[in-house]
Amino acid sequence: MISELVPAPGSLIGGRWLSSGRETFAVEDPATTETLVAVSRATVADARDAADAAAEALPAWAARAPRERAEALRRAYDLMVERTDDFATLMVLENGKSLADARAEVKYAAEFFRWYGEEAVRNEGLLAVAPAGGARSFVQRRPVGVAVLVTPWNFPAAMITRKVAPALAAGCTVVVKPASETPLTALALAGLLLEAGVPTGVVNVVASDQAGDSVGALLEHPAVRKLSFTGSTRVGSLLLEQAAARVLNCSMELGGNAPFVVTASADIDLAVEAAMVAKFRNGGQACTAANRFHVHRSVHDEFVERFGARVEALEVGTGLGGAEIGPMISAAAAARLWESVEAAVASGAEVTARAKVPEGAGHFVAPVLLTGVATDAEILQHELFGPVAPVVVFDDVDEAVAQANASEMGLASYICSGDLQEAMRMAERFEIGMVGINRGIVSDPAAPFGGTRTSGLGREGGHDGLEAFTETQYLSVDWS
Ligand code: NAD
Repeated sequence: MISELVPAPGSLIGGRWLSSGRETFAVEDPATTETLVAVSRATVADARDAADAAAEALPAWAARAPRERAEALRRAYDLMVERTDDFATLMVLENGKSLADARAEVKYAAEFFRWYGEEAVRNEGLLAVAPAGGARSFVQRRPVGVAVLVTPWNFPAAMITRKVAPALAAGCTVVVKPASETPLTALALAGLLLEAGVPTGVVNVVASDQAGDSVGALLEHPAVRKLSFTGSTRVGSLLLEQAAARVLNCSMELGGNAPFVVTASADIDLAVEAAMVAKFRNGGQACTAANRFHVHRSVHDEFVERFGARVEALEVGTGLGGAEIGPMISAAAAARLWESVEAAVASGAEVTARAKVPEGAGHFVAPVLLTGVATDAEILQHELFGPVAPVVVFDDVDEAVAQANASEMGLASYICSGDLQEAMRMAERFEIGMVGINRGIVSDPAAPFGGTRTSGLGREGGHDGLEAFTETQYLSVDWS
């Protein structure tokens, strides 16, 4: 096997690894385009078996003392941190990200196990006197039931732990359907949870490149009560339609189009530092990635000059070779991004800075800084999901707010300003779920992550993330 962390190249269903007797699909290294491993493709019957296994394991897991569930999550945290380098290497291989980004992701992903281990014992309800008297209201939060977790390839570990940890803390059992590009990290995490003492059947993984079939079968299964999805807005809205048939409880973490605003009072060194993180972390393949830069005219030239110098110095190459920026996930994603750059240039934008890309078969794209971008340019309208930074100018705060809100998406945003009150007032006018102020990263396991409008429904992380896997039950008790 490619890594000792992966117990078998196939699905985990009720404690059994299905790694033979089925057709396979290839997992590719995007830095070389070589096949890393052939993974057994779960059938529709396998998906149904996985939901059956989760349903069977549910009553006992939900009945466990919260402290016991917490301890299993804590062991998972310890094991994951202990194996940071192995997890990071596996993610570099199947996803292509830099080793530094992979290590940072392991830390972030493991933190969900620790944080929800701590939160499992704080699943509080309410006791109230009924306003009319004569009754007491007891409100308790109970596990929602079997949850289907569908995750993307860009953070192969964290997008899974951000769902699995609160689900398990709440007492739910789960079926994970990881992205077909990165199933190995998902299988490694499932193996780790078994080792941490999570009983068989509580966590199941369905690995398949025929996502529509397996997710469709899971959503139709009578035991399934919850869909938690992270991925594109297109697929998310398709799944919401399917989930409507059984009125499933849904949490949707969808696409982003984050504005990064630099005001006239910003500290430009700090703004450039934050911009590098917001734009180039994970090679720009992040839903929170700064997608467009809105810079006040008075600081535009200085910001562009310093940001451009940093962009040109970026080292693109293979993650295991120590590069800062890895390849795109696929040839199609690389081609799409480059088409956006060419269309912007054709309509008047200028490539002000461009980093070098290595020769070879990998899906590499040059990091680029584009200036002279019109406020209504097509490149600002959609999620780029790669290392391209278009810059737009604004003249006053109202214009900056209007530009920031000029998208159907509302996941993340960033403001760099020397005046904290100006930044916070501006943030309050953003129709956006998260705002980073004078920093280029917002993700935090203890905080509610999520978006408005077409960026999603609900929040992950923080106490909201636990509530998302619970159902409220209210008992009205005679107190006369
Ligand atoms: P995607 O929507 O193509 O795939 C996400 C998951 O859905 C994968 O597991 C995939 O196999 C599955 N899927 C695809 N088609 C399906 C179908 N017809 N039926 C059922 N399942 C299907 O997204 P992606 O390319 O893997 O990830 C990139 C997207 O994810 C970007 O838009 C990004 O913004 C978004 N994302 C959002 C967040 C967030 O927290 N809001 C985090 C990471 C990524």
